[in-house]
Amino acid sequence: MLDVEELEWLYHAEGNSNILVKNAKCHKVLRARKINLEGTESNNSEENGKIRNVFSVNDEENFIKNIISPLFGSSLVYITDIQTIPCSSKNFLKELNRKINSLRPIGRKHKVIDVNCSHVQLMPDLTFLSECPKSSCVSVELKPKWGLLPSSDKICEAHAIKQGICRFCMHQELKLSTGKIGEKSQYCPLDLFGNCTCRMRSALRALFQHPQNNICLHVNGENVTMTFFDKNKVDDLKIDSSCELIEILVSILTTDSFKADNNSEEVLFKSSNNEAKTYQNCKGERSHINCKQMGNWGILNILKSLQSVDDLGIEEIYKRYQFYLQNGNLQNIEDFMDFNSNLWTQTVCNILSGKNVSQSNDLDFDSFCRFLISTTLKDCSIIITLACVNKDTIIDSMSKFFYVPNQCWYAYRIKLVDLEPRCIDNIPYYYNIDNKIMSFYLNKINA
Ligand SMILES: [Zn+2]
Ligand SMILES: [Zn+2]
Repeated sequence: MLDVEELEWLYHAEGNSNILVKNAKCHKVLRARKINLEGTESNNSEENGKIRNVFSVNDEENFIKNIISPLFGSSLVYITDIQTIPCSSKNFLKELNRKINSLRPIGRKHKVIDVNCSHVQLMPDLTFLSECPKSSCVSVELKPKWGLLPSSDKICEAHAIKQGICRFCMHQELKLSTGKIGEKSQYCPLDLFGNCTCRMRSALRALFQHPQNNICLHVNGENVTMTFFDKNKVDDLKIDSSCELIEILVSILTTDSFKADNNSEEVLFKSSNNEAKTYQNCKGERSHINCKQMGNWGILNILKSLQSVDDLGIEEIYKRYQFYLQNGNLQNIEDFMDFNSNLWTQTVCNILSGKNVSQSNDLDFDSFCRFLISTTLKDCSIIITLACVNKDTIIDSMSKFFYVPNQCWYAYRIKLVDLEPRCIDNIPYYYNIDNKIMSFYLNKINA
């Protein structure tokens, strides 16, 4: 086993509850839990009443193994290569905190690595392709957010606009007003999940223009700006501009969307006749230009359909949660924290068999599980890593396709990451943030 304490670790990225550092030589990422700095706010709650991460590394692994992996299929999720490693000395994590400090974003520094953690996790660095170590590689990490409008019939009348404007686009207004972003993004998730190449292309262009925290680019494991290929050449990649990279990504996601069909190639290269039609996203009505219809399978379609397993929506979920609290029916709350419990097993079975019981009565726990799964999936990321390969190279676990404009074969791999479980006690937090976004948006358009 690797002695992680002996390796040189560099800052990679961080989320709300974990910091990632990586080692360039062994292509591994180490994940360590964060904690609030002493002297700042209490560790029990975070901004806006959000409860801190209560799940152990073990819980997180069980969530991925027992819930996420059966739903997506194991090939999209990394489970095999995650190792949980005991930390023998506090000094290692203390030293790590000191070393990465200057590279961390200022807005994140109220938290540091928890030096009292007994374990850290070691996983493969997905920005690399260990399968073809001699080729240069590009990796694009997307956080697509909510790919659909809620269909629940339990949305209150005052919030009916939820069924016309997507959550991401409404949230942009609030983020702009609080200074969280300096400029509104033109990205609309409904386009990325819109099942045709022109909408996908326009979504990716918008992301490249306003990356915010929704997209990032790595070349040979190194974080670079979205315009990297407009200014730099990487000999064995044959990508000459951001536009070209976007086209390659569109091709990959299109190919991926036909994965389950038998006649994939035939369908893929037949252009459809929907040029004349229009579509609606949050930015209004637009026309399809240079458009090909995409397939019904692949990562984006699966993700969208699993985001929709919560068919009640936060307003109804919050109501039910309050009902449980008042009626003392939450003595089974530990079941929501235990991803080996019957409750979770049953929910996964119900989802896979298409059985929906969550509308049936007020006293079922299935609807909470569905809400929590959906919440994780509305905030997860997709990593697409690719390299230029020879026509004859065959690489296990990776797909290959021919990109016509530059006459190259590319091998690519798609994985889902950022799949932390959500805590049922955060339902009030999700309700509050939803209310905040809604009331700000409604005030703005009614002003
Ligand atoms: Zn939108
Ligand atoms: Zn189109």
